[in-house]
Amino acid sequence: MVSLRHPEETFDLVVIGSGAAGLTAALTAAHHGAKVVVLERGHLWGGTSATSGGTIWIPNNHLIAPAGGEDNPADAFRYIRQLAGDDTSAERVQAFVDHGPRMVRFLADHSEVQFDCLETYCDYHPELPGGRPGFRSIQALPVKSDVLGRDFETLQPPHVATTAFGRINWTAKEARPLITQAKGAKSIFLKIAAKYYLDIGQRMKTTRDRRITGGGALVTRLKTSLNKLKVPVRLSTSLVDYVLENGRVVGVEVESGGYRQVVRATRGVVVASGGFERNAAMRSAHLPQPTSTDWTGGNPFNTGAPIAAAMRLGAKMHLLDAAWWAPGYKLADEDRARPMFVERSLPGSMMVDQSGSRFCNEAASYHVTGGIMAERAAHAGTAPTWFVFDAKFRGKYALGPLFPGPPSFDRGVKPTMRVLLKRADTLEALGQLLGVDAAVFAATVEKFNADARTGKDTEFARGESAYDRYYGDDAVQPNPCLAPLEKGPFYAVPILPCDIGTKGGMLTDVHARVLHEDGSVIEGLYAAGNCAASPMGRSYPAAGATLGPGMTFSWLAVRHALGVLE
Ligand SMILES: Cc1cc2nc3c(=O)[nH]c(=O)nc-3n(C[C@H](O)[C@H](O)[C@H](O)COP(=O)(O)OP(=O)(O)OC[C@H]3O[C@@H](n4cnc5c(N)ncnc54)[C@H](O)[C@@H]3O)c2cc1C
Repeated sequence: MVSLRHPEETFDLVVIGSGAAGLTAALTAAHHGAKVVVLERGHLWGGTSATSGGTIWIPNNHLIAPAGGEDNPADAFRYIRQLAGDDTSAERVQAFVDHGPRMVRFLADHSEVQFDCLETYCDYHPELPGGRPGFRSIQALPVKSDVLGRDFETLQPPHVATTAFGRINWTAKEARPLITQAKGAKSIFLKIAAKYYLDIGQRMKTTRDRRITGGGALVTRLKTSLNKLKVPVRLSTSLVDYVLENGRVVGVEVESGGYRQVVRATRGVVVASGGFERNAAMRSAHLPQPTSTDWTGGNPFNTGAPIAAAMRLGAKMHLLDAAWWAPGYKLADEDRARPMFVERSLPGSMMVDQSGSRFCNEAASYHVTGGIMAERAAHAGTAPTWFVFDAKFRGKYALGPLFPGPPSFDRGVKPTMRVLLKRADTLEALGQLLGVDAAVFAATVEKFNADARTGKDTEFARGESAYDRYYGDDAVQPNPCLAPLEKGPFYAVPILPCDIGTKGGMLTDVHARVLHEDGSVIEGLYAAGNCAASPMGRSYPAAGATLGPGMTFSWLAVRHALGVLE
């Protein structure tokens, strides 16, 4: 069948994907005078980046010192190297450490992207040499949707897990006290809720908050900067293949509305198309089993076609079995899984496997706990894991759509959450409901409760790391992550080894150039973000360690493609 064709077009640079990495690439290119286009597969722009918390991890960035912190490149390098090991090269880590701060400075100086330093957001392994208990993560400042004009209609909405009550936007600094019910939580809530509900004009039009925060604010600020430079972002335009001439990638073949088109790029193609989290076949082929496209919080358009096309070109692939893991669950009426970023640190909760045993420090980072769950599921078929909590936890903290409240509120819980929620008056009865070994479960709870009363988790050291305590409840002492489960009714929710995106793909060099199987460079082809093998290896060093490297390497890619030297 002959497909319909649009005539060829030519740009200096073609960017695939409109997430944070793609938009950063386009902005860098336009700033340096290049003619650039962003081609986006979805009918919405912003990628998973727009739906994310939007925290960006850049050690040694220029906001740290004015905020009262201290950092240096040697510590950052040492910290990442010990976590990433040989899954990534020392040169790529060094490139991230050296150029991440320059990328942030570039955005701050030349775009609408302005940041706030998160002074207390702890690295995920702060006790390791070179780790820090704060300052390295930054977040774009909130922005009003009005700056986007009609582009707001096609901006990916935030993931429910990154909003208050599933709809009100919040910054990382607002979220923490609200999640942990810390001092000041009520006034923060009143402030953001009033802003939301008293915005009558917006409320009459949409449930979407006019005040955009987190990942939404990041991509909105990038997009308004691009709009000023008149850079086109073409939606519903999918990369199908690369155009190769004389061994060099000189453009892409795209499909849009049933039409094929060749879009040429004289200086290079920057692929920033996210991971393959939404591709069932690629998940089956590469990720630990069992797995499912239901087990991701990533946006539905990330099906990995540009990664598959690069495989056909002979690009070297790396880390295809890896993901940014997170324990989570999927509600039947939602299009993506809800990662449990924070709830596991709060006191009065624990995780047990089907045998009724705890198996890890629940309050460790979502990547660590989710990774342990994925590995256990692959080796021992231990899924599901149960997230167990008592009525005190239920009364004080939120668990996704389960807003804090007394047991009498259970009837009002969203039906798709009610399907997952198990409840019983006693722990024995709960154990029976879950089908776990009664004696093991009883012993597990007894041991956990005894430890919780002393504040020392003798099995898994929960609450000992500063990171665990970041989302702990300071009102609970001596350990803000530990309280006995003793007040019925008792609850459990089945949780799965979900992800927030895959992190394996094209292997690249320090300029983000894609490498051949034989280690040589595929001229003209660059990759950054989740379509490239992560420079963090299999690790997740801190909040923002997916967006930060993605944006840094897309910035580096463009500079290399355009020959920018300064
Ligand atoms: C709820 C949640 C919260 C998160 N919070 C954070 C956080 O605070 N900090 C952090 O660092 N990470 C966070 N993450 C992870 C982070 O969002 C992703 O790792 C990151 O957004 C990936 O960025 P990217 O630019 O590589 O891809 P994306 O942002 O996903 O963008 C890729 C784009 O490419 C498009 N595309 C795909 N295929 C094609 C094709 N064939 N042709 C054209 N376009 C294509 C996609 O439609 C998409 O728009 C979070 C994730 C989730 C789900």
